[in-house]
Amino acid sequence: MSQAHTLKCPACGAYLVYEPEKDKLVCPFCEAEFTQEQAEASWNAEPAAPAQGHTHEYHCASCGAELVTDDTTAATFCYYCHNPVTLMDRVSDEFHPDGMIPFAIDREGAVERFKTYLSKKWFVRREFFSQGSLEKLSGVFYPYWMGELSGEGDYQGEGTQVSVASTPKYDIITTRYYDIHRSGKIQYRQMMRKALEKCDRKLSDGVHPYRFNALRPFSTALLSGYLAHKRDVSRETAQTDMEQEAQENVKRVMTQGLHYDTLHGSATFRTTEANLRYLLLPAWVLTFRNRQEDAAYYYMMNGQTGNVCGKLPIHWGKLLAVAALAGAAVCGLLCLGGALLW
Ligand SMILES: [Zn+2]
Ligand SMILES: [Zn+2]
Repeated sequence: MSQAHTLKCPACGAYLVYEPEKDKLVCPFCEAEFTQEQAEASWNAEPAAPAQGHTHEYHCASCGAELVTDDTTAATFCYYCHNPVTLMDRVSDEFHPDGMIPFAIDREGAVERFKTYLSKKWFVRREFFSQGSLEKLSGVFYPYWMGELSGEGDYQGEGTQVSVASTPKYDIITTRYYDIHRSGKIQYRQMMRKALEKCDRKLSDGVHPYRFNALRPFSTALLSGYLAHKRDVSRETAQTDMEQEAQENVKRVMTQGLHYDTLHGSATFRTTEANLRYLLLPAWVLTFRNRQEDAAYYYMMNGQTGNVCGKLPIHWGKLLAVAALAGAAVCGLLCLGGALLW
């Protein structure tokens, strides 16, 4: 059963968009405003859209046009009538997020910050920030797994302490050997993993961290007016990945505070409890494809904190002119080959 749903304005029948500044749902036509609770109540009162029969086929509830989406789209806009639509089966059952952080920076604020950011990156090619590009700046919810792992760490090793005593005739070197066994309970919190395979890890990590005190229960009302992706990374995959990180990290944790001249050993981590939550987190994103180079560039901004990360097209003329002046200092940048990452 495939349902596409638009959160309708209870006043005029148009649609509602979540407005971060006001923390309300606002109708762009009649300017009516509703709290999240009011909007959700009107949502529940509305009868469910009829099933369309095919799992990958959705129709806009407002104009009936077919919605063109990729496999991970969960919220989008109708290409024809521009109404925001949520694909209900992509945010329910196993894909129902455990929580989300709403946008705190609205479109206007995002455009402003983007312009300020680019004004400092003078060697970025101009076409990247033409008016046309700015219109493509999209508010997107990306799926993540946030995990909390509890477990037992264990370290077995051997340490030595070497001391030297000098007499008039001899240097006496004493080596003391220590068997070291340490074990303890370890808890890892807020381990983040992207839950969308195609999402560039450098970028998705680049805009972290988010402030999780603003975490709210998932609500389709908060998606309204934004794009959203559903996860395509399973809970199991994410957990395995987090356990691996815990495993790599446990040796450092278990040998903290040990002072030996040499130390050899190995550590293990055994998970006793894993708690993973599926979250949707907001970002403002601009992608730009250069056909001549067949290269994709990105700009991504944390929709809550404004942290920025990007891979932008470089105006080589400008950069090389400075490189000639600055000599080897720019070499590191050039080595990245056609793109800069912040
Ligand atoms: Zn309205
Ligand atoms: Zn439509």
